[in-house]
Amino acid sequence: MTETGADYIKQNSMPEDEINQNSDSTLGERPAVPRWGPQHAGAKELASQYTAGKRLQETICVIGTSILMVVNGILLLKHFQLEDWKVVLIAAILGILTADFLSGLVHWGADTWGSVELPVIGKGFIRPFREHHIDPTSITRHDFIETNGDNFAVILLPLAYMAYKFFTYPEEVIRQNYNWEMYMFLLTIFVSLTNQFHKWSHTYFGLPRWITFLQDCHIILPRKHHRIHHVAPHETYFCITTGWLNYPLEAMRFWPALENIIETLTGFKPRDDDLKWAKKS
Ligand SMILES: [Zn+2]
Ligand SMILES: [Zn+2]
Repeated sequence: MTETGADYIKQNSMPEDEINQNSDSTLGERPAVPRWGPQHAGAKELASQYTAGKRLQETICVIGTSILMVVNGILLLKHFQLEDWKVVLIAAILGILTADFLSGLVHWGADTWGSVELPVIGKGFIRPFREHHIDPTSITRHDFIETNGDNFAVILLPLAYMAYKFFTYPEEVIRQNYNWEMYMFLLTIFVSLTNQFHKWSHTYFGLPRWITFLQDCHIILPRKHHRIHHVAPHETYFCITTGWLNYPLEAMRFWPALENIIETLTGFKPRDDDLKWAKKS
């Protein structure tokens, strides 16, 4: 994106007082036909494709992953030695950076390529990304399971494998691998928190003070920062855990370079499907 000025972003992304359930009713006059929101024909169609089967899968993943998080957390504490504190600190920073990069990569991939028509992953995985661009605050009306189900699903198997190793490997092997397991554990925690941070970045009213404090300090994804992504055609600032990596990746023109390579190799045009949904009325 070439234009990132504050005015340009304000005019071309969803206003904070958009006609939506996430709005401040004291703000007065609204435009007659809003460009974004649940009344958009494409948004309605996409929202209706959230099935009971998908809901069940999300519920199972959230419960299973939560149990594994607690189990692995306790096992890591059990094997913790005081001199490990530096490891925890470094693992936490690397975990945050890795989660932020992965959030960008997955978000970019789903926004830019594929289609809702694809079997299995289309409706299950790509659909929420399309919905999010034409009804950005729908995420603020999703409950904990719908918001976090996909991210919890992704980390279920790595956490299960970690628990398996703790229960079956001899003590000295666990100590040898401790740094790696701590990094992997914190990475999964930050991956699991990513869409919650993303949801908060779209919540303009009623957030607890400690959350807006973390956003203002840019410890988690700030609202103004993420708004830069929500300027059509949604081609930059894909990282949504903390958004820290958006600065270097933008400076490197990382996403356009990757898109050029893929377009040259496959002939597919970036954001074809996203544009199709945006035009539905
Ligand atoms: Zn997006
Ligand atoms: Zn967003």
